[in-house]
Amino acid sequence: MPAGLRLAAALLLPVALVAAGWSQHGVSAGLALAGAAVAAVVVARGLLRAVAEATAAARRIAAGDFAPAIPVTGPAVLQGFVAALNDLATASARRDDELNGALEDAATQRDSFYSILNASNDGLLLYDNARRLVVVNQRCGELLGFSRHELLHREPLALQLSLEERCEQPELYRERLERHFARPDEPHQDQLVLREPRRRVLRRYSCPVRNHRGLQGRVFTYTDVTTESDVDRLKSEFVSMASHELRTPLTSVHGALQLALSGSGDRLAEEDRELLAISLANTERLVRLVNDLLDLSKIEAGRMPMSTGPLDVRALLDEAARGMQGLAATRSLAVACAPAPGVGPVQGDHDQLLRVVTNLLGNALKYSPPGTTVCLASRSTADGVEISVQDEGPGIPPDQVDRLFRPFSRVGVHARQTSGGTGLGLAISRAIVEQHRGRIWAEPGRPSGSRFAFVIPRAAPATEPGDDRAVA
Ligand code: ADP
Repeated sequence: MPAGLRLAAALLLPVALVAAGWSQHGVSAGLALAGAAVAAVVVARGLLRAVAEATAAARRIAAGDFAPAIPVTGPAVLQGFVAALNDLATASARRDDELNGALEDAATQRDSFYSILNASNDGLLLYDNARRLVVVNQRCGELLGFSRHELLHREPLALQLSLEERCEQPELYRERLERHFARPDEPHQDQLVLREPRRRVLRRYSCPVRNHRGLQGRVFTYTDVTTESDVDRLKSEFVSMASHELRTPLTSVHGALQLALSGSGDRLAEEDRELLAISLANTERLVRLVNDLLDLSKIEAGRMPMSTGPLDVRALLDEAARGMQGLAATRSLAVACAPAPGVGPVQGDHDQLLRVVTNLLGNALKYSPPGTTVCLASRSTADGVEISVQDEGPGIPPDQVDRLFRPFSRVGVHARQTSGGTGLGLAISRAIVEQHRGRIWAEPGRPSGSRFAFVIPRAAPATEPGDDRAVA
């Protein structure tokens, strides 16, 4: 029996039986039963048709077809349901339009984002928190010598190994890359030299990428500085050669002036003696300048002899403070030495690192107002040991901090003053720290003045004789 009939019979059988019970005669009972059955079939058919239409319409809506609206006919009990289905279809159509609009906007934004990225003259890479490459622009592929597809789809470790192989010093590349990830919250900058696909010097800068959910990864930019670096190298070679040529005659002028002043007794008029003294002071300044220039070019070229080994930081700071006591006393300044306890030794060249600390301390004493204190300190950090010099002087204007470590840069109130220095102290300090694979920077002092600091890698723990683990 069809489902409609079964339903009709089930619905109307009780009605028919009642009608039959009331009937006095069998004929009228049979008629009543037949009439009821026919009415039941008609009603059930209508109901089932309306339910089938509503079901088909609901399926169309589910499949994303929101039109046309279903006619609100059929049994009254279903009309409310059909009207609700129509409302659902209208609301879904509106939401579908909105969603399509939003998707189109997102696609337009994504296209503009990639066009801007690909128009950049710098290479750009975005790593997610699991260090997978998620975005890379065309220029990056060109600079590193990989196709964008290779960069995005190669297994991260394999990609890193291929990149290392293309660098002039693969271990240095690996070590430096790790430093970018070592402090996820901070920006980091360094330089790498690629051998392939052709020799390129790239400045690499990275910084964290965050959104409202927190740290999302790290973005790297690569700038081709090959030309600047070649010009720099030529300039350094020229300066080094010129300084070398100047040093010999200068030394002889310096010696002659010293001799003339010391051996002249009363034979010189006071005025001539004064002139000779001024010449001697300026010659000494020139000798210092020439020596500093030569040192800078030697350190930058890695030609400065260095003998590295484990160095006790406290002893280094004490030695620098003792050496500067005379200058501090003449300027009525105090030097406070505050090395944090338990800071292990650093790996470095004693004379070179002493030169850095002495230079920073000398600057702090030079620029501090009398009666104040200069504080020398050290502490352990994630990537080594930090040594800092904090003063209560005029401080460094924030917009000039970046150029402070360039040769001959004078900043702030000293910009037009002659401080007696050569203007090379910080440039030499930076070159020495970088040769030690460290970093140096300046920041505002707390509560005032400036704070110069550098970080040097820790010395490797000493191997105990007979310690099998260390030997393995
Ligand atoms: P020099 O001291 O010989 O001029 P440096 O390279 O050591 O050269 O310093 C460069 C410049 O940085 C200084 O001329 C000065 O303008 C600024 N400077 C360095 N140290 C300090 C300091 N502690 N406080 C304020 N300014 C400083």
